[in-house]
Amino acid sequence: MISAAKIIKKAKITVALTGAGISTESGIPDFRSKDGLWSKFNINEYGYIDNIINNPGKVWSMLRILINDLKKAEPNAGHIALAKMESMGYLHAIITQNVDSLHQKAGSKNVIEFHGNFREAVCLKCGKIYPIDYALQQEIPRCECGGLLKPNATFFGEPIPKDALIKSFSYAENCDVMLVVGTSAMVYPAAQLPEMAKRNGAVIIEINKEPSMITGIADYSFYGKAGEILPKIANILSKEL
Ligand code: NAD
Repeated sequence: MISAAKIIKKAKITVALTGAGISTESGIPDFRSKDGLWSKFNINEYGYIDNIINNPGKVWSMLRILINDLKKAEPNAGHIALAKMESMGYLHAIITQNVDSLHQKAGSKNVIEFHGNFREAVCLKCGKIYPIDYALQQEIPRCECGGLLKPNATFFGEPIPKDALIKSFSYAENCDVMLVVGTSAMVYPAAQLPEMAKRNGAVIIEINKEPSMITGIADYSFYGKAGEILPKIANILSKEL
């Protein structure tokens, strides 16, 4: 771990790509683990943009549960360690696939939300954005224009927000180190980012509770809880090496 920390210390640009696994210790289930969300709700019935368009009442009833759980969640030691690394100048951006806002709650400033967020709702007809609480007041949430509202997050079958895509690709092409934390790296195009970084010469540091799709290209792999490993790295970085 010390040699990985030394590389972070020397790097000009370090970015973290985070996934659902960094938030499991905050009580938010990931998608693909045994007790994950898709073990309770069929991805083909709830996860696609066509599902909410064709059956908004059913999908919103699941979203209501999910959003209320997200609201209660607090950042854990992993989120806090990344915020600390940023404030020390050793982490320049977080690209997160998560929609839970926990990096921002932990104090991270430069957070790119690759799959959008659940703080807001967006109208599928006119694009107007509302706070998510506006949508939660209605059984089938509607915009003032009559269009259907959905969380301002990317469903399967929808494009990645353009601004997030451009910024993330630029960081992946230009970073010296990419920390890949708690992601199965099975969802594209997010999973492309570590591959892109590697091709451009970046050192890849994987942190996951078990080997993942990233393991093959990782220069360092640390297996265990992100909430235990990241504070150790941040602690080493806070000392003279
Ligand atoms: P995933 O469920 O596919 O994979 C999670 C990964 O995290 C797994 O590899 C697992 O081994 C690992 N993991 C679980 N707990 C861990 C821990 N404590 N420490 C370290 N690693 C741990 O998640 P994904 O790759 O992010 O892709 C799923 C998609 O689902 C993402 O696009 C994301 O938008 C969305 N999602 C978001 C949230 C959230 O916002 N918190 C929750 C579930 C899913």
